[in-house]
Amino acid sequence: MNSFDFSLLEEGFTARDILEQKINEVSLSDDKDAFYVADLGDIVKKHIRWLKALPRVTPFYAVKCNDGKAIVKTIANLGAGFDCASKAEIQLIQNIGVQPERIIYANPYKQISEIKYAASCGVEKMTFDSEGELMKVAKNHPNANFHVGSDSRDPQTFVQAISDARCVFDMGAEFGFNMHLLDIGGGFPGSKNSRLNFEEVISVINLALDKYFPADSGVKIIAEPGRYYVASAFTLAVNVIAKKVMLTEQTGSHDEDDASKKTIMYYVNDGIHSSFNLISKFRMEMCIVRKKKSKPDEKLYSSSIWGPTCDADDRIIEQCDLPELQEGDWILFENMGAYTVVASSTFNGFQRPTLHYVMSRPHWQIMHTIQEHGTFPEVSELSDVHVSCVAKNRMELNSIACIV
Ligand SMILES: *Cc1c(COP(=O)(O)O)cnc(C)c1O
Repeated sequence: MNSFDFSLLEEGFTARDILEQKINEVSLSDDKDAFYVADLGDIVKKHIRWLKALPRVTPFYAVKCNDGKAIVKTIANLGAGFDCASKAEIQLIQNIGVQPERIIYANPYKQISEIKYAASCGVEKMTFDSEGELMKVAKNHPNANFHVGSDSRDPQTFVQAISDARCVFDMGAEFGFNMHLLDIGGGFPGSKNSRLNFEEVISVINLALDKYFPADSGVKIIAEPGRYYVASAFTLAVNVIAKKVMLTEQTGSHDEDDASKKTIMYYVNDGIHSSFNLISKFRMEMCIVRKKKSKPDEKLYSSSIWGPTCDADDRIIEQCDLPELQEGDWILFENMGAYTVVASSTFNGFQRPTLHYVMSRPHWQIMHTIQEHGTFPEVSELSDVHVSCVAKNRMELNSIACIV
């Protein structure tokens, strides 16, 4: 069992409670740095959901998505494989005791020294997507297995990729190659905010696999999910450090709260040079949450949210409707586990947000059971865990803006 630092949640407490507790702790001080709370139990839940939904597909977690020690150790304990894109990622995963059979080297463009490194430590599965790359691998790694990779973005492309793969397998067979491993890639949605629906994706995949690669075909099927495992586990809390109110329209009215006249720019202590660095490239699944509207007549203002650096492009959100916030208020971004922490810099001298890992005892026990016995509990047990957490949640929050 890999050990790592996290706080075990007291019974009835959720990750959100811990987040609120941390906000309360610093509320009277000036030290309101941005921070994350990451729920490792959410990763345990995702893994079990995968095993049930795609029983024929072995997951190899895409490390580039979030390489936090606690994250990769949790996933290693659950028995999943790893998709590494570089020598450093292979080393990270080997250092936590994962055997090379559980690692796939899945960068389509590889430096020769890195191919040789993969060969030297026994990593034999890799992807390629051009003939030149295939020849390079063949020359530098005599034992490498070849298979088809894909990074599909909508349910029908998964089907297309799987049927294309069938053609490739058949062509290979004509030339005497008996291919036995199919890699259906990454791109599985990591939260309810994704444009892709997980249930829809898995149903088309299972149908296509049964059609083109039935169980008796003897082909082993793997996938490279990244965001699926980590997106929803992380919530980021940022603090409003400054605001600028602009009047957009002059009318005869003296009501300065008139929503039609006012837009507000908020500056917060995290931005596109840190957690939001890959915001456009990787279609992050973040959303803002806030307390449920307290008053039915609450006014919302057209707002934008900006990062703390002097960069004029450091804008997190171009437009969303928010109630008026004050300096010192907190904004929470959910679904912030994928392509966030891994890409953050300290540009302008701003420190990266600190990370607090938590896990509930039932999830911790489930992780142990999976690791020791290779079995996982039935759905009812799991949903009970979830329901009891929700019922005890002290604050009702609802999503008000989704930016994908
Ligand atoms: C980035 C990447 C993934 C993971 O993608 P997600 O959208 O996070 O699932 C999987 N495979 C390859 C080759 C990748 O480059």
